[in-house]
Amino acid sequence: MLSPDFVARLRSLLPFEQVLTDTVDCFAYAYDNSRRFCPPDVVVFPVTGLEVQEVLALCNRYKTPATPRGRGTGTAGGSLPEQGGVALSLERMQRILSVDAANRVIVAEPGVLNESVQEAARVHGFFWPPDPSSAAYSSIGGNLATSAGGPHAVKYGTTRDHVLGLKAVTGDGKMIRTGCYTTKGVVGYDLTRLLIGSEGTLAVITEATLKLTPLPQARAGVTAYFGDLSSCASAIVRIMALPQTPSALEFLDSASLLLIRGRFPALVPAHAAAMLMIEVDGSEQSIAESRAAVLRACGDKGLIKGEEVSDTAKLWAARKALSPLLRDIAPKKINEDVVVPVSALPVFLEGLEQLSAKYRVANVNFGHAGNGNIHVNLLVDPESADELSRANACLNEIFDLVIQLNGTLSGEHGVGSEKRPYIGKEIDPPTLALMKEIKRVFDPNNILNPGKLFP
Ligand SMILES: Cc1cc2nc3c(=O)[nH]c(=O)nc-3n(C[C@H](O)[C@H](O)[C@H](O)COP(=O)(O)OP(=O)(O)OC[C@H]3O[C@@H](n4cnc5c(N)ncnc54)[C@H](O)[C@@H]3O)c2cc1C
Repeated sequence: MLSPDFVARLRSLLPFEQVLTDTVDCFAYAYDNSRRFCPPDVVVFPVTGLEVQEVLALCNRYKTPATPRGRGTGTAGGSLPEQGGVALSLERMQRILSVDAANRVIVAEPGVLNESVQEAARVHGFFWPPDPSSAAYSSIGGNLATSAGGPHAVKYGTTRDHVLGLKAVTGDGKMIRTGCYTTKGVVGYDLTRLLIGSEGTLAVITEATLKLTPLPQARAGVTAYFGDLSSCASAIVRIMALPQTPSALEFLDSASLLLIRGRFPALVPAHAAAMLMIEVDGSEQSIAESRAAVLRACGDKGLIKGEEVSDTAKLWAARKALSPLLRDIAPKKINEDVVVPVSALPVFLEGLEQLSAKYRVANVNFGHAGNGNIHVNLLVDPESADELSRANACLNEIFDLVIQLNGTLSGEHGVGSEKRPYIGKEIDPPTLALMKEIKRVFDPNNILNPGKLFP
């Protein structure tokens, strides 16, 4: 419960329509895609960096929690105001401030949707490579704070690789500028990369200088269906060893194919137990060569069908439908986004099968295989305490396997609150202690997204 004095001062900082205090209004800001529910006491909608600064300075003075929020599509609970206080929604900071084709730069406010950045870049022949499947409804502030990625990260990298500089406000209300406007620059520490992926725990991003990439001349697709998982996993390793880097290399296991067959009956051959969706891009000339090389790398063993696809739109629609389809059949899925080195994928995917059998937990696995990034979904009946406990034990062993294979617990969703208990599996105590020190420097009163990340 906030003090009336705090609320009165907050109201004096912002116009009336930029502050919500009604409980029902606040409920709309209590969730994200983790499906947990943590209502804030107040929601504020700053529209300038200065307003963000004033709100955070006030929260810092009153030691009131402030949780930054883009569009609430995060899956790790990062934008949930777990300790109440202020939900700091950046959704009204919607301006693209400049599009500078000569310098290949867009400067934008954090509430701009990823898709709007792509549209603004496209007319100049560019794109911004981070491409989460949620691009149409996630904000670049959220993308930056989680270092979001998508299918094209295998060739182009994640958000971290496509930002030149930021403006941000620290937990104690200081406005800082990080990075620069040029593609080269080594003055001072790289605070840009520190803030990207920090999940709103160090500073609130109020402006971003995004680095653009020229659109490829052409794109082409290949689909490969396999009769067994192990042949498919070996093909992934062979494809990634090619000199031609695919622009997307997506893997779908047999349970994913089953879901797709339900929605798109004619798309998948009857006996397929695993599938790869591969995209190559470049000049017209180079993509023919890349496509042929990829098809050869799919090999003969276990391959049911490998073919060139001219229109990839339907395939991508099927791939993007997977996450929502899963929600329909399993509202309480445990959804992870672990990463292992590509060469370890055959062992990892086999390990997943064994753990699923050992704990009798159904799972659906798909993802960005070219990065070794697999979305592991454990399907759980929320009414069954026994099943939930088996699923948690299974998850624990999956994480152990990931670490054993030199992987990482999250490739793109972040830690938030969902993976908080497991962070110690990956990060050793001295490194974790240093991270906590850094948090204290940026946010001495621990008001910014308190409790997130650290166990
Ligand atoms: C159907 C679906 C598909 C998805 N596919 C992908 C995918 O392919 N790849 C992927 O990476 N993710 C994916 N996601 C997850 C999610 O969309 C991304 O994490 C996205 O980047 C979150 O953006 P958001 O605006 O919704 O942020 P939110 O969920 O509101 O916030 C996410 C985190 O960022 C922080 N934050 C938000 N704005 C700021 C700011 N301005 N300054 C500081 N911190 C801030 C929040 O505190 C929180 O910790 C998917 C989600 C859904 C629902």
